[in-house]
Amino acid sequence: MKNPWSDPARIFLALVLGVFVGALVPATAGLGTLTTGAVFSFVGDLFLRLLQMVVVPLVATSIVTSVARLGRDHAFARLGAKTAGYYVLTTILASLVALVIFNLVQPGKVDAEVSAQLRAGVPGSVEEVREGLDGKSTGDLADVIRRAVPVNILGAASDNREMLAVIFFALLFGFFSGRLPDGKREAFLNFWESANEVMLAITHAVMRVAPFGIFALIARNVQESGSAALGPLALFFACVAGGLLFHMFVTLAVLMRTLGGFRPWPHYRAMLPALLTAFSTASSSATLPVTMECVEKNAGVSPRVAGFTLPLGSTVNMDGTALYECAVVLFIAQLYGVSLDWTQQLLVVVLALLTSIGVAGIPAASLVAIVIILQALGLPIEAIAIVMATDRILDMMRTTVNVFGDTTAAVVIAASEGEKIYPRDAA
Ligand code: ASP
Repeated sequence: MKNPWSDPARIFLALVLGVFVGALVPATAGLGTLTTGAVFSFVGDLFLRLLQMVVVPLVATSIVTSVARLGRDHAFARLGAKTAGYYVLTTILASLVALVIFNLVQPGKVDAEVSAQLRAGVPGSVEEVREGLDGKSTGDLADVIRRAVPVNILGAASDNREMLAVIFFALLFGFFSGRLPDGKREAFLNFWESANEVMLAITHAVMRVAPFGIFALIARNVQESGSAALGPLALFFACVAGGLLFHMFVTLAVLMRTLGGFRPWPHYRAMLPALLTAFSTASSSATLPVTMECVEKNAGVSPRVAGFTLPLGSTVNMDGTALYECAVVLFIAQLYGVSLDWTQQLLVVVLALLTSIGVAGIPAASLVAIVIILQALGLPIEAIAIVMATDRILDMMRTTVNVFGDTTAAVVIAASEGEKIYPRDAA
């Protein structure tokens, strides 16, 4: 039966209402300590916690069942290669979009006065910026790899930030469970498949309250950020937003059409609940349960493909994040009057690719990656504070693109595996 509460229209309505209520009702309105701000925070938090609660068991059971089945029909290597190839391709394309836009428009090339004004507003010391970014991600590439191999899987699973470690272990676990001897394998896999179904059912139940959670998150966000003047950052904002929209509606649409061979537009509508959840939570990881539900239920992708591509994608494939990283670095360089030659810009793209794999799917995670790139180029890392005013809304937008990128991988790969997904039928 169709669940009326997960209907994209209702979620969208909740989002729009959230914007209006957040703009009209001040956070302090209410009775005593029972303010609207407190209520919205509480409800939004509960929704986020429900989503996060589902993530680890959902990732573990989907990867184990999917890989165990894949390993048996020797499709594992093929699917793995396709998925990795698609993820790298889309991330590089997204970074190139940022490069083209920021080289053409040059939003950071402002007159000396505006530049000084922006830089003067940089609050806090280098240490403060670093401290604020602590724990959001990785130090460097070696660290990404090191942390993907957990010393203690239960320890890693107890921290939603160590998803790469959970994924790595689940991949191994699934692969070797597929190789159990015949008698043992079926019973074992039946257990994992049932556990996976239970997790999907819990996700479905959480989706019933999604409109309330999304309403509260957005209303609280709007109350907090108010209508801060963007001023000289407006052009930077427009360039990033334009790049994200281009990647989402042009690049990915072309890839769906050419690589997947289906009409892309129905896919946008079908993914709406996941996109709106990504937008309001600014976290790919927290959105994962909804993403899986949309891709399996609305697009008809098999659990075998969805269970492999999506959990992996939610941590390693971040097109929006890579685009944003390049954009910020180029913007800051322009603001400081540093011109980056093409080899340096190539370095930015490579670092954006690597760090977007390493950053966690949580709010504001890319800031630490930007610090890494700024350091690599010798630019002042405290300059990142300049883009803080726009970071929250751009985080919501880039997370939406991150999640959408993952869903396109799932449908394109499902189509290439000969699965009958909806848009293909409609084409
Ligand atoms: N918030 C983003 C995500 O979860 C990561 C980032 O770019 O900060 O996908």
